[in-house]
Amino acid sequence: MNMTLTILGTRGSMAVSAPGMAKYGGNTTCYLIETPEEAIIIDAGTGIMNLPDIQGKRISLLITHAHIDHIMGLPMFLGRQAGKEITIYGETRDGLTIKEQLERYISNPLWPVTMDEYPVKLTFKDITTDNNAANNTDNTDTANSAINNSSFNIGDVTVSTMPSNHPGGSTIYRLDYNGESVVIATDFEHEEVTASDCSQSTAAGNPLARLAAFSASASLILYDAQYTPEEYEKCRGYGHSTYVQAIELAEKLAAGDRGAFGDKVSCKESAEPTRILLIHHAPNHDDAFLDALQAEIDRTLSAKMVDSDKAMTTGTGLSSDSTGVNQPASSTQPMYAPFACPPQIRLARESQTYIINKNIIL
Ligand SMILES: [Zn+2]
Ligand SMILES: [Zn+2]
Repeated sequence: MNMTLTILGTRGSMAVSAPGMAKYGGNTTCYLIETPEEAIIIDAGTGIMNLPDIQGKRISLLITHAHIDHIMGLPMFLGRQAGKEITIYGETRDGLTIKEQLERYISNPLWPVTMDEYPVKLTFKDITTDNNAANNTDNTDTANSAINNSSFNIGDVTVSTMPSNHPGGSTIYRLDYNGESVVIATDFEHEEVTASDCSQSTAAGNPLARLAAFSASASLILYDAQYTPEEYEKCRGYGHSTYVQAIELAEKLAAGDRGAFGDKVSCKESAEPTRILLIHHAPNHDDAFLDALQAEIDRTLSAKMVDSDKAMTTGTGLSSDSTGVNQPASSTQPMYAPFACPPQIRLARESQTYIINKNIIL
């Protein structure tokens, strides 16, 4: 069996609703990962209001951080879950447990009821992250407990965590199940920001290189691309990234830049491209803008393919398949970084569902 991913909300910063926003969607960040037994929800933006029928599966909610766009849907969602059991995971920040952070929002005068008044059995688990997430083990058995390792299990799903580079901190989650994996890197800035800037960045070293190591061999990566490269120049330190760094991430993974988490695997050995869904769309980017951005991404990738083709010393070059994505034309294709396996990089759209396996086409 495979995990499935359903995108319930992929808007960043603020929910939007307009006819010109319907294609990519206006709900804020929420991703549903399902196995036959588990329903694991990443973030509780307004998209959580569209949670489909999960047929009695256990509900776990992993909060990346408590910025308002990531928890905005929680008060109404909990009101609809009478009688259910829900476990909420999140990091302690500013000395506040995840429950205390959520209570800042779900309490008077911002909301008429408190967390304890919902007719829902809530369990809270406070987690910590470190820079060696892949090496840690499960430690989650007691209710309302602290998880002091950055890898734990929810049923048969292994959850690993990595600190993001984001003002106030955020958690990047990796879910592994049955040999497949998905990484959710929302609210992530690729550059370290110095103390003189507004960010309280928490990641040591080069954030993008660390994310590449954390994402080694992942079947699918969700990557924050809120800004265009031009917008980013005015928004350094706000904790978000662009598609240019998503391509860079794909290049790092294609080149086998996998740090301590794995050996280099060539395209021939893995026969799998890096797949990245771009998320956390800016609230002012409407469908026409995002369509144009996707076209720009496609052109950028095609240009890199052409460059690769020119640089080859043997083989028969690249051809374009029916989706317009360049593919190696023959098995005698030489390995050539950055893209012996062309990556798939697409802007995420609300309501899309993917089966996480070796054959995903974005
Ligand atoms: Zn956000
Ligand atoms: Zn944020």
